[in-house]
Amino acid sequence: MTPMNLRESLGIHTKDQLFELFTAAQHGAPISTHRASMIQARVFFFSAVFAVLVPLWFLLDLWLLPNELWIELLIVRLSSAVVFVIIAWQAARDPELWRARLLLGAMLAVTPVFHLVTDHVINGDELTGMARVVAEIYALLPFVMVAGLTLFPLTLSEFVAYAAPMFFVAVYTAFPETAAELPQAVSTVWLMLLILGVALFSALSQLRYMLSQVSRASYDVLTGVLTRRAGIEMLDLQFRLATMNQTPLSLLYLDLDHFKIINDSFGHEAGDKVLKTAAQKMGESLRKGDAVIRWGGEEFVVVLPNADGKEAGMIADRVMHAGIGMRPDDTPVTASVGVAESSESDVRDWKSQVELGDHRMYQAKTNGRARCVGLDDELILWPEAKQD
Ligand code: GH3
Ligand code: MG
Ligand code: MG
Repeated sequence: MTPMNLRESLGIHTKDQLFELFTAAQHGAPISTHRASMIQARVFFFSAVFAVLVPLWFLLDLWLLPNELWIELLIVRLSSAVVFVIIAWQAARDPELWRARLLLGAMLAVTPVFHLVTDHVINGDELTGMARVVAEIYALLPFVMVAGLTLFPLTLSEFVAYAAPMFFVAVYTAFPETAAELPQAVSTVWLMLLILGVALFSALSQLRYMLSQVSRASYDVLTGVLTRRAGIEMLDLQFRLATMNQTPLSLLYLDLDHFKIINDSFGHEAGDKVLKTAAQKMGESLRKGDAVIRWGGEEFVVVLPNADGKEAGMIADRVMHAGIGMRPDDTPVTASVGVAESSESDVRDWKSQVELGDHRMYQAKTNGRARCVGLDDELILWPEAKQD
C-alpha cells in the first residue's frame, strides 16, 4: 500500500477538485440542490430536537440552580425554542442553497447567543456543588455547536464563515481576567481549535464524497450535460418555483435530424462525436441558469427558467444560427425543436410540459425537419431548412 497524504485522503486529484472544495462558485445546479436539501434536512432535524430539549433542560436548572437564576434562564430557553421552531419550519421548504446557508447560520447562532446572554447570569454568581457542574456544562455549549459542523457537507469558505464567529465567542468567554486563569483559557482555545480541525476535515470529506457521487449520477458521460434523472429533478424544482413565483419557465425539446444514418454510414463513434459536439454547442448559446438535459439517445431538453414562449423561440433561433456542429459528410447538423411554456393551458406539471414540447417537436419533424415549432404554431426555420 502506498502512503496517503491529506490531499488523497480527501479524494483530491485535480485542481478543479481542489477548487470545488474551496468555494461553491463552480458547483453545478445538481450539487447545489443536493447539498441544500441535505443541509436543510439536517437543520430541520436538529432544530426540531433542540426546540424540545432546550426548554426541557429547564427542569435541571430548576432542580440545581438558585431561584433567580432558573427564572431568567427559562425566559431565554423559551425564546431560543421559538427561534428553533421557526428555523425548523423554514428548513422544511424547498431546498435552495442560500436558504440552507442562512438557516444553518441561524441554527448555529442560537446557542452562542444563548451562551453570551446567560454567561453573566451563570458566571456572575459564586456557584457551588451541582450548580457549579451545570455552569460548567453551559461553558461547553459552543463546543457542541462547533462539533455540529461535522454533520454538514461544507466548502472551506462556508466552514470558515461559520466557525470564525464561534471561535471568537469561545475566545471571548474564555478570556482570562487574571494570570492564574491563563492555562485554563489556553486549554479551552486549544480544544476549540482541535474540534474545529476535526470538523473541517469531516465537512470537506463529506463535500468531496457528495461531489463525486452527484456528478456521477447527474452528468451524462458522453456529452457532459445533465442526465435525465438529474434533469427531472431540476425540471421539477424549476416548475414549482415558476408556479410559486409566477415567473415563466420554458423548454425546448430537440431531436437531431436523420441521426441514425450517421451511425449507419460512418459508425457509432462518429455518431458519438456528433452528439457530444451538439450538446456542447447548445450549451454555448444559453444563459447562466439554463440547462441542457440529455433526455435520451439523440434527444435533448433545454430548460429555460424566466423565459416565456417568445423568448424561448428567440433562444431556439440563436441556437440554430450558432449551429450545433457538422455531420461527418460536412453538412450542418440540424434538429427538430418543440417549445413549451409552463403557463400554457395543457400544462399541469413538468411532465405535461415536456410532453407538449415533444408533441411540437414531432410536428416539426413531420413538417420537414430543421425547424422549431413554438407557441401558437409559430415557425422558426433552421438556416439550412431550405435544403430539406
Ligand atoms: P429523425 O430525423 O426522424 O429523428 O431520424 P433519426 O435517425 O434521428 O431518428 P431515430 O430515432 O430513428 O434514430 C435515433 C438513433 O440514435 C438511433 C440510435 O442508434 C442512435 N443513438 C442513440 N443513442 C446513441 C448514442 O449514444 N450514440 C450513438 N452513436 N448513437 C445513438
Ligand atoms: Mg429520436
Ligand atoms: Mg432523431
